[in-house]
Formats: sequence, structure tokens, C-alpha cells
Amino acid sequence: MPRAFITGITGQDGSYLTEFLLRQGYEVHGLVRQTSLMQRGRLDALGVSSEERMKRVFLHYGDLGEAGSLARLVHAIQPDEIYHLGGQSHVRVSFDAPEATFDINASGTLRLLECVREAGRPVRFYHASSCEMYGRPEIAPQDERTPFHPVSPYACSKAAGHFLTVCYRESYGLFACNGILFNHESPRRGENFVTRKIAHGAVAAKLHGAKLRLGNLDARKDWGYAPEYVEAMWKMLQRDLPGDYVVATGEAHSVRQFAEAAFARVGLDWREWVESDPVQFRPSEVGLLVGNASRAEKELGWTPATRFAELVRLMVDAELHAAGRP
Ligand code: NAP
Ligand code: GDP
Repeated sequence: MPRAFITGITGQDGSYLTEFLLRQGYEVHGLVRQTSLMQRGRLDALGVSSEERMKRVFLHYGDLGEAGSLARLVHAIQPDEIYHLGGQSHVRVSFDAPEATFDINASGTLRLLECVREAGRPVRFYHASSCEMYGRPEIAPQDERTPFHPVSPYACSKAAGHFLTVCYRESYGLFACNGILFNHESPRRGENFVTRKIAHGAVAAKLHGAKLRLGNLDARKDWGYAPEYVEAMWKMLQRDLPGDYVVATGEAHSVRQFAEAAFARVGLDWREWVESDPVQFRPSEVGLLVGNASRAEKELGWTPATRFAELVRLMVDAELHAAGRP
């Protein structure tokens, strides 16, 4: 049975990747950290029986801030593949906590790469890079050759993790890949990301008459569906040779369009419910980030299936369902 070790297993992508790997017959080990509330809701519904889960999913305490715990776990688990998804993933928050963001995202990646280098056996490594690294690109769409111009502490930390992954691949011959994933969303997206916030807000407006406060409505994003994106991660590690891949839909839509479609889904006009929130504006905003995933299509056989309208619909419907109004 192939064995995977996932950092960030409690996050959006970690939970979908766990489900996917279980379906592929893997034993899955995940890194979890001490939190004051033991909320691991995303792992509660993995689509396997609890018996199966007990046999094939194992959670281990540790932290990306601590090299010793990572080394101990990699040594004990002896994984065939490591999916490094853990980190501080919120761009706006990275302006408030830049040092912690950089330490966990950049140095955390370095700590883990050192463990892979010292593993004493071949371990395939995936690093969660980000389209944010392009920042203010000179061309659109962006592909694997587009230069990076990061404009947030988050993006800088991801660029550092990205280049460290390339450096370890080239210096030590590691099978290490970067997935340059554009925004991907789902009902499991963190509640302070704009798509989830809008989907939740539309339902709260409908059911409770609550207003929604948002920042930059003109921001345009290349939004895909998270369960499809984790499959691309796995496909990268099944190739004969390691490489870096853009994963994206190639279409950009604005926050305004997302709000319009989400509120329309519950029969409301978004303009009557959305207010401006200056706190949500960022010290610097990225340019137009839209991805060209043709390399992933050609070499991985990966294409996105869920498009914008369907994504909005499924996220709003999930919020309605959660509110007891399917
Ligand atoms: P997420 O939902 O925010 O999950 C982040 C995960 O990292 C959580 O499991 C979190 O644990 C864990 N984590 C945070 N700090 C940690 C630490 N110090 N030690 C160990 N674990 C820690 O993020 P996501 O949306 O699944 O994204 C996965 C990865 O892809 C992230 O690295 C993100 O930056 C990157 N990415 C995401 C997107 C996107 O659109 N979603 C796009 C490009 C790149 P807790 O549950 O304990 O907080
Ligand atoms: P990001 O692309 O990784 O930063 O994902 P987010 O979902 O946090 O933000 C997507 C875009 O939505 C960014 O350009 C934000 O400036 C914009 N945005 C507008 N209003 C909000 C808001 O209320 N919350 C968040 N998180 N983003 C917002």
C-alpha cells in the first residue's frame, strides 16, 4: 500500500487530497498541530467508513516551525510521497503577521526538504506554490515561464518555498515538484476567503436579513474547484520526471460577479446587501492573475471541469444545506 504524508491535512486541500488518496488505495498520514479547539470538521466526512479510516488514516502532532518533529515523523512514517500543503494561507493576514507567515511557509518548506534529503530512501515531494508569486505580471495568462513579482509577504514566502524546492531538486536530485495553483474554492474553503464569505453571506442575507461587508469588488480571480486541483498534485508525483506545473481554469471573474451570481442564486440583488469594508482592502493588490495550464493538460492529462457558474452554485447550495434549507 503506498504511503503518503500530508502537511496541512486539516485544511481545504488536505482534506480533499486525503479522500482522493484513500480512493487510490493509499495509507495517509497527516501532520496536525495543537489547537485550543479540536475542530477538524473537514476530516469528519472523508467518504470512507470509520473502520477504514481507523486502518488507513493516521494523524501525528508536530509543527512546521519545528525541524525535530518533522524529522522524527518522516523517519517514523517512511512515506513514499509527501504533499506539503501546510502553511499560513491568507494573503491579507500575511500583512498583519509577516514574520510568522514567512517562517512557516518558507523556512517550514526548507525544514521539510532537509528531512527528504536525509530520508535515506526516495521520497517524492510536492510543494504548494501559488499564483500569488506572479503578483503584478507583465503578461496574462501566466505559465511556468512567467517571471515572479510577489507583492505580499505571503507571496514572497511562497516564492522562497518554490525556489527552495527547485534548488533541492537540482542540487540533490530529489523528485520535488511545485504546483503553481491558482485560486481554488469549495464549501470547505476557509471562512475568511472571499468566495466562502460571499456564499455564506448570500444565505445569511436571505435567511436573516444580514448585510455583507466586502473589500475590493473589482479584483478578478481565476477560480477553480478544489477537489479537481488535488488530483493534479497527485498526477505530478506519478510522472517519470519531476517538474513545476500551473494549475488553473484560464478564466478570470471579479468579486462583483461572484457576489452577483451568489445573491441571484438565493433570489436577491447583491447591490442591496453588500457594503464596503475598508479593512478588507490590502496594502498592495495583485494584477490580473489568470493561468495557462496547457503544460498540465499536455503532460498530466489534467483539465478543469467545474467552471465559474457551477462553482458559485455549488458553494451557495452547500451553505443553504448547512443552514437546513437545501
Ligand atoms: P488552508 O485551508 O488554510 O489549510 C492550511 C493548513 O496548514 C491547515 O491544515 C493548517 O492547520 C496547516 N498549518 C498552518 N500552520 C501550520 C503549522 N505551523 N504547522 C503545521 N500545519 C500548519 O489552505 P488550503 O486552501 O488547503 O491550501 C493548501 C496550501 O496551498 C497552502 O499552503 C496554501 O497557501 C496553498 N495554496 C492555496 C490556494 C487556494 O486557492 N486554496 C492557492 C495556491 C496555493 P490548522 O487546521 O491547524 O490551521
Ligand atoms: P487570495 O486571492 O488568496 O487573496 O484569496 P481571497 O479569497 O482572500 O481574496 C480574493 C480577492 O478578493 C482578493 O483580491 C481580495 O482583495 C478580494 N476581496 C474583496 N473583498 C474581500 C473580503 O471581504 N475578504 C477577502 N478575503 N477578500 C476580499
